[in-house]
Amino acid sequence: MALHHRVCHLCEAMCGLVIEHDGAGHIGAIRGDEGDAFSRGHLCPKAYGLKDIHEDPDRLRVPQRRVGGPDDARWEPIGWDEALDEVAHRLGEVQREHGRDAVAFYQGNPTVHNYAGALFGQVFSRALGSKSRYSATSVDQLPHMLAALEMFGHQLYLPIPDIDRTDLFVVLGGNPLVSNGSLMTAPDMRGRLKSLRERGGRLIVIDPRRTETAALADEHHFIRPGTDALLLAALAHVIVTSGQARLGALAAHTDGLEALIAAVAPFTPAAVAPHVGMTAAAIEALAHTIARARSAALYGRVGVSTQSFGALACWLLYALSVVTGNLDRPGGSMFTRPA
Ligand code: SF4
Repeated sequence: MALHHRVCHLCEAMCGLVIEHDGAGHIGAIRGDEGDAFSRGHLCPKAYGLKDIHEDPDRLRVPQRRVGGPDDARWEPIGWDEALDEVAHRLGEVQREHGRDAVAFYQGNPTVHNYAGALFGQVFSRALGSKSRYSATSVDQLPHMLAALEMFGHQLYLPIPDIDRTDLFVVLGGNPLVSNGSLMTAPDMRGRLKSLRERGGRLIVIDPRRTETAALADEHHFIRPGTDALLLAALAHVIVTSGQARLGALAAHTDGLEALIAAVAPFTPAAVAPHVGMTAAAIEALAHTIARARSAALYGRVGVSTQSFGALACWLLYALSVVTGNLDRPGGSMFTRPA
């Protein structure tokens, strides 16, 4: 058996795979790659299922062209060159006849986690020149990107929770135990949360639902759906009015603190409590816990961003990281370095 080292593209975790195969297309086994820096040998059941997909007799192995009329339509196999030529020709025809935007382009899982797909998808999209471009981003993370653009100057400056070093991991509207770390690429979340506990760290989950991650948390606060922005404004209010704001190294790069203080002034714990569904005392205690933690990684995902006040909630989440000095420091939420 020969070994192939590959990456599972089925989700953002992009776990490293070791594939045993006989050189003739038959897979003996798939296991996690212990040497992969991200996944460290972790795999979920979907990766083991790749063998079934690969060997499924119904899997398409060559391009197919639909031929015949409405009554005798059928598929016939054609070669790759012929298929690519035909698609390029027909796309050109559609655009010439109906305009460039008449061809829409969508990228989602697993293409966006495939290096070639990510690279050439952009080239293809530019060549199409169509404004009709879509991806899973639209229903997932655009509010995070808008908040990053407004606060940090670029939509892809997305701070990543430093989960492996933090003392306090706060999760809002996310379920990393199931997603394996959406927008942070952190496979083996169960192992990482176990390590957090073993080094004395704590996990707090804020979510209307008792998620798998919430079931493991030290604290789980149920809040009403869509009230994250109110809660975050109140947390910021408590921290800045109790003299616990500490920008640290960020002070030289931060402006608008006075504007933030003024903006969150009306959002006292008592004012938001009836809407959020937490008591004012619990909101205050949570703010103090975050402010006093040696380091805190504040992480919000789809539940925070995909709602009426999603962009505001994401912006406030980043602002909370800033006022507690947890932005771009070890154990907080950090910017990645370009690969
Ligand atoms: S978590 Fe599962 S689906 Fe996602 S990359 Fe890893 S093995 Fe693949």
